[in-house]
Amino acid sequence: LPTVTPSLLYDYLQCPHKVWRDVHGPKSEFVEEENPFLKLLWDRGVRHEEKIVASFAFDYVDCSKGTEVERINKTNASLARRAEYIYQGILEQDDLFGIPDLLHFDGTEYYPIEIKSGSADDGGDEDVSGKLKKHYAVQLALYSEILQRRGLQHSSRGAVIDITGQRFEYDLSVPQGSRTPETHWELYKRLHSEVVPLLLNEEQNEPANCSACKNCGWYHSCKKWCEDQDDVTQLFYVGRTIRDAIRRDLNVSTIAGLVDQDVAALSERKKSDKSFLKGVGAATVQKMIVRGRLLKEKSEPLIHERFEFPDVETELFFDIEADPTQDFVYLHGFWVRDANGESFREFTARECTAEAERKTWADAMDFILASSPDSVAIYFYSAYERSSYRRLRRKYPDIISEEELEALFSRANVIDLYTDLILKKTDWPLGSYGIKAIAQYLEFQWRDETPSGALSIQWYNDFLTTGDEKFLSRVLEYNEDDCKATMVVKDYLKMRMDAM
Ligand code: SF4
Repeated sequence: LPTVTPSLLYDYLQCPHKVWRDVHGPKSEFVEEENPFLKLLWDRGVRHEEKIVASFAFDYVDCSKGTEVERINKTNASLARRAEYIYQGILEQDDLFGIPDLLHFDGTEYYPIEIKSGSADDGGDEDVSGKLKKHYAVQLALYSEILQRRGLQHSSRGAVIDITGQRFEYDLSVPQGSRTPETHWELYKRLHSEVVPLLLNEEQNEPANCSACKNCGWYHSCKKWCEDQDDVTQLFYVGRTIRDAIRRDLNVSTIAGLVDQDVAALSERKKSDKSFLKGVGAATVQKMIVRGRLLKEKSEPLIHERFEFPDVETELFFDIEADPTQDFVYLHGFWVRDANGESFREFTARECTAEAERKTWADAMDFILASSPDSVAIYFYSAYERSSYRRLRRKYPDIISEEELEALFSRANVIDLYTDLILKKTDWPLGSYGIKAIAQYLEFQWRDETPSGALSIQWYNDFLTTGDEKFLSRVLEYNEDDCKATMVVKDYLKMRMDAM
C-alpha cells in the first residue's frame, strides 16, 4: 500500500485532483514557482511553534533532530517508556506516516497535539464558531490511528494549540456539526480510502478550476486542460460537485453542451424528479446556462434588475487590508468623491499591535461617522468589510456599540456592491466576479502588475520587519487602487441601471 501522510490528506481536501496529478501527472508541465506569501506563512508558523515550545512549562523529549531513522528510534523508545511529552517524534506504522508536533501521555494513553499559527476552529466568520478545521482534524486522526494500531491510544481525541497559545481538545468521534453527521474520524477514513486508489493510479480524477489553483504548480497545466475540454468549472460558481451532477444527469461536461440545454425543461424536470441534479438549485441551473452563453458569446454584462443609487453629497469607496492569519486589520482606505473632487484617505497601523489596530479602527470609525447619514454613501466589495468590522468591535467594544455598528451597515446608503448588486442583479462574461476580474474587464488598471491581497500582506510584513517606507507605499497604492476600482464598478452599474 502507498504511504499516506497528513500533507497528502491536506492536498486532497484542497483539490482531490492534486493527489493524482502530483504522482501521475505530466511532470514537464509542473512549474515550481517561488511564492513569497506562502513562505511568509511558513516562516510565521515556524516562529510561532518556536515561541510555543519555548513557553512549555513541562519537560519533553526533543525528537526534532537527527536522521529520520534516529528520530524514529528515539520516538519509539520514548513511547515505550511512556515519556509524558514527545516533541516532533516520527510515527510510522504500516502505510501511515506522520510527525505530530507533540505526543502527550496523560497517565492512561497518548494523544496527539498540533501547534498551529491560526485559530483552531473555522470561526473566520463570526457566524461560524467552534468547528475544528477539517485539515487539522484529519491530521490528528491520522496520528491517532497510528497510536491506536500500536495500542497506545484508546480514544479518538486530539488537541490543537492555536495562535493564542491556548490548548483545545477535540473528540474526533463526534459529528462535525448539527448538519454534518459524519464525524471527523469518519471523514479521515473516507479521505484515506479515496486517496489510496489515486496514488495507485487505479482511479483517476480530473482538474477543475478552483480556489486552490492559483497557488498550485499545476495551474497552467490544469487551466489549459479546462480550456481544451471546454470544462464547465470555468464558469463562475461552478465547481466539481456541480460538474459531477451535470455529467451524471445531463451527460454534459462542456460549456457548449450546457448552453444548448432548455432551461424551462430542466426546471420542470427538477420539480417532478427530486433526484435530478440533486444539490443544484433550479436558479443555479438557470444561472449556469446564462453565464455559459455570456462567456461563449463574450457579450455585454447582463443587468437583470434596476437599483436606485443614492443621490448624496459624498461617496466613500471603502476597502480594508487585513492579515487573516494574525487576525489583524492594518489599513482602512477610502476613495472620497464629493463636491471638491476626489481624494484618498487612509488609516494605517504602523505596527502590528492591538493598540495600533484599535487606534486605527477608532480613527476610521470617526471618519465614517463624521458625515450625517443622509449625506454620505459608502460602497465596498464583499462581505469581508462588514464581518471584519464586527470582529473588530468584539475585540474593541469601547469603540462602538453592537447596535450602532449594525445600524451603520443597515443604512440604505451603505452598499456591498458584490453581495447586493453584482451577485443578485447582474451577470458577466467572466469566470470570476471578483473585483479584479470585473474592474479589469471595465478597463481599470491597477498600478501594480500583479495586484493581490496576499502580496499586500507580504509588503506590509516587509515594512514591519525592515521599516522601509517603500513597502508601505506599495500597500497604500494597492489599497487606493482597490478603492478606485470599487468606484469604477459602481459607476458602470449606475450607468447601465439608469439606462434601463
Ligand atoms: S491546478 Fe487546480 S485543479 Fe490542478 S492540481 Fe492544482 S489545485 Fe488541482
